[in-house]
Amino acid sequence: TRIPFIGGNWKMNLTPTAAVAFVQKIQPKLPPRSAVETVIAASPLFLTSMQAVQGDGPVQIAAENCFYRDEGAYTGEVSPKALRELAIPYVIVGHSERRKYFNETDDIINKKVQAVFKNQMTPILCCDETMGRFENGDRVSWAVGQVTAALRGVSATDASKLIIAYEPSWAIGTGHSAPSQEAEDGCYLIRQTVADLYSDEVADQTRILYGGSVTDENIKDLMAEPNIDGVLAGKASVNPAEFLKLANFET
Ligand code: 13P
Repeated sequence: TRIPFIGGNWKMNLTPTAAVAFVQKIQPKLPPRSAVETVIAASPLFLTSMQAVQGDGPVQIAAENCFYRDEGAYTGEVSPKALRELAIPYVIVGHSERRKYFNETDDIINKKVQAVFKNQMTPILCCDETMGRFENGDRVSWAVGQVTAALRGVSATDASKLIIAYEPSWAIGTGHSAPSQEAEDGCYLIRQTVADLYSDEVADQTRILYGGSVTDENIKDLMAEPNIDGVLAGKASVNPAEFLKLANFET
């Protein structure tokens, strides 16, 4: 069985002080990690100070991005080797905003997925779906293409640990989530692609999330779908009270 995964992607929001206060505020009210995994992906500027107040609480601190080389002359980039030393468990890779504003291609994203695994961390691989693809009914080739490209050279063992987020860019930051059936269809297509690339056993273990205008109002319906194992929330994750509602969606 796949443990539900409630992730927050802060993007370029908050400050170091607010980040620390956030962690302190949510920790006592989160469900235990054995029941629900709660993960906050934050700027590399905040990671160590968030970890310093993390204590034994359930929240896990993740990174929003990293480069695909461990070190070198890459001004301004975030090293996966450095994240590993900080014991960061998860790194978001291939977010649609990285694809759109920072020109990340499927090839770059594949290198990043490999670099994260090589450094003993787990990627949260985001798959974007544009409205054009959705409206043209071209969803199958979208899922197969993006997932296949991102997972080139990734072993079955690694693939079974992977987290994949289905994030239709037509739902991100709009206040309009995909209807839960559409979100389920996108997650199902991704799981089928993983099954075809590896096996049913691997696809059964891969956790697949939905992201795009998730709120405490729609999370229950989304989480009731069989192929949605969790969410990746942007806007609803920057406010501690709202994030707590997401994390406690079962109660
Ligand atoms: P919103 O929840 O703000 O739509 O953002 C979703 C997202 O991009 C998560 O990675």
